[in-house]
Amino acid sequence: MLDLSTSVTSLFMIGPVYGTRLQKLGIFTVEDLLYHLPFRYEDYSQMTKINMLTPEKKLSVAGVISEMKNIYTRHGKKIQQGKLTDETGSINIIWYNQPYLSNILKPGTKVVLAGKAEVSGHRMIFQSPEYEILYKNGNTIHTGRLVPVYPETYGVSSKWLRSRISNILTKFDPDIRELLPREIISEYGLISLKDAIYNIHFPQNYESIETARARLSFDELFVLELAATIRKKSWQKKKTGKKFPIKKNKEKIESFIAGLPFRLTNAQKRASREVLADLQGSIPMNRLLEGDVGSGKTVVATIAIFASYLSGYQSVLMAPTEILSEQHFKTIKELLSGYKINIGLRTKLKKLEDADYDIIIGTHALLNEKKHFRNLGLIVIDEQQRFGVEQRATLRSKANNPHLLTMTATPIPRTIALTLYSDLNLSVIDEMPLGRMPVKTWIVPSYKRLNAYQWIKKQIVDSDLRNQVFIICPFIEESESLTTVKAAKTEFDKLQKEIFPDLKLGLLHGRLKDKEKNSILSDFKNGKLNILVSTPVVEVGIDIPNATIMMIEGGDRFGLSQLHQLRGRVGRNNLKSYCLIFAENDSEKTITRLKFLETEYIGPKLAELDLKLRGPGDIYGTRQHGGFGLKIADITDLKIVEASKNAVNGFKFDEETLSSFPLLRQRVQKYTIQNISQD
Ligand code: ADP
Ligand code: MG
Repeated sequence: MLDLSTSVTSLFMIGPVYGTRLQKLGIFTVEDLLYHLPFRYEDYSQMTKINMLTPEKKLSVAGVISEMKNIYTRHGKKIQQGKLTDETGSINIIWYNQPYLSNILKPGTKVVLAGKAEVSGHRMIFQSPEYEILYKNGNTIHTGRLVPVYPETYGVSSKWLRSRISNILTKFDPDIRELLPREIISEYGLISLKDAIYNIHFPQNYESIETARARLSFDELFVLELAATIRKKSWQKKKTGKKFPIKKNKEKIESFIAGLPFRLTNAQKRASREVLADLQGSIPMNRLLEGDVGSGKTVVATIAIFASYLSGYQSVLMAPTEILSEQHFKTIKELLSGYKINIGLRTKLKKLEDADYDIIIGTHALLNEKKHFRNLGLIVIDEQQRFGVEQRATLRSKANNPHLLTMTATPIPRTIALTLYSDLNLSVIDEMPLGRMPVKTWIVPSYKRLNAYQWIKKQIVDSDLRNQVFIICPFIEESESLTTVKAAKTEFDKLQKEIFPDLKLGLLHGRLKDKEKNSILSDFKNGKLNILVSTPVVEVGIDIPNATIMMIEGGDRFGLSQLHQLRGRVGRNNLKSYCLIFAENDSEKTITRLKFLETEYIGPKLAELDLKLRGPGDIYGTRQHGGFGLKIADITDLKIVEASKNAVNGFKFDEETLSSFPLLRQRVQKYTIQNISQD
């Protein structure tokens, strides 16, 4: 029996070279390989005889190779020409540049070919079909069935993966044990994990794919939901001792709100109420404040910070970039200027003075700060999705169970909030401040590109160079590679030299040093640059009041909510603003999807559309399969979501119960570890 934790490199059929390649796919152990799931299937299940072959239809044919030879063309190309024969006739086959085939497929070899036959002249021919030698047992994995197709990487093809996975499953008896309690498996009508793994790779039919997928999805959701439930329970056990006396300070808080330069929107009021209610409770707050870019999250955070100050506690606000921290520092200083509150800024470039602070604002650099925290009562994390779990935990470890407010502009669909993140309380700001005009959005066909440039130029010139423009280059790598940086640079040079020679352009990308980034952004903010060419990974949340045009290249590579967030960078100052989106692929499907942006301006609605149209991976803009940590489950499949949620609710998950399900505990721990490190 093969232990699933065995390293794949120790299997003789894989070895060190492939072992290294497989790491790129996140495969280290036999278990990883078995959980490397097909993302689709090629349907070669229909077998036929040669005299019944229909052209242009995916079919498999069994027969004997009756001829096979290499031919060299005048142009030096090598062609492999052969013939397949069965009892009903024969058909010509041709492959290109695979001379080794003549050694593998010698005349007399029994094979199955799969593909689409074509008509050539009066005869039919197979061009570059899949092939598979037919052994005595008659089993096939590459032909004659539903054939799994996997995520691949350089030097690792689906065919290779298929044969290794098949070998492990059929010859090595892998020790696939049940993860879930037996009662749950039977109550929810699930197939065994072993069957699910076999069937997801080598299904008999479409139905067996579905039952396998249902089982694996159930496991996945069950683990994530159970983890959230455990996190919630352990969080609720924390006693804060930091009950903020909100009632006592009610008037002061109200007068602060009344003194703001604007009236709060109803959504901001509601969110503030929810936050303040948490702050006076004895369980530390764990609330996510979600709202579109520009919806005014900062002021809600400031109200919480002010309440913390009135209660005699310090607050800290962490933001992902220097420029954002500085922006928050200025904004919050301004908002609280009527009070004697000491606010400090701590970034990589700016250290804190030796003083006693009520509020400390900064970047990751805060994580290294030791001496300035005395009685931290509230932690606010802006753009929380930009920070890792450990970073958030480190900050929390600087205090004894502080209240935690996290903020994001990334909408979280309701189903996800209620299941995978059920440990978080959610406040949504679903309303923009009054007078904010929606950013007029166009999906621009490529033949209008030059017109678009002319129009942009005119907008800038007609405003006496006041209006500013973002041009976003289409790279969505999580970490920018040198190639993408080079492409941004090329685009920048072209725009500066050929398109906008009379305007000042700046280039921003993730590979710049913080200092360079800051100086470019402040040049842009101060109007020294007319156009900022940028990759999309930089500077979420930045506030450039005079930016009125957002032009996005390769819009089809983004999810709708990402595009919505990008366009939120403009239109922040009640100036009429525009978003122009170009697509590389202008198929009808792509354009129809993008066109939603022309009429829909509510972030969470666009997120739900993303979920429907492209799947969960695209909300966070990662290419990571599935997103939200989901590898196989479809969060829009409400039946499985409900079922797994019910199962979690009925499961007794104390330490004792969990220890009798070691595999389950091991999986769950991956998602609860932050609690453990905090306690
Ligand atoms: P985000 O939610 O993206 O963090 P900000 O908090 O930066 O948004 O707010 C965006 C802008 O809107 C700021 O300039 C802020 O002063 C302004 N603002 C916030 N709330 C209101 C309001 N209720 N009415 C008018 N302007 C507001
Ligand atoms: Mg913000």
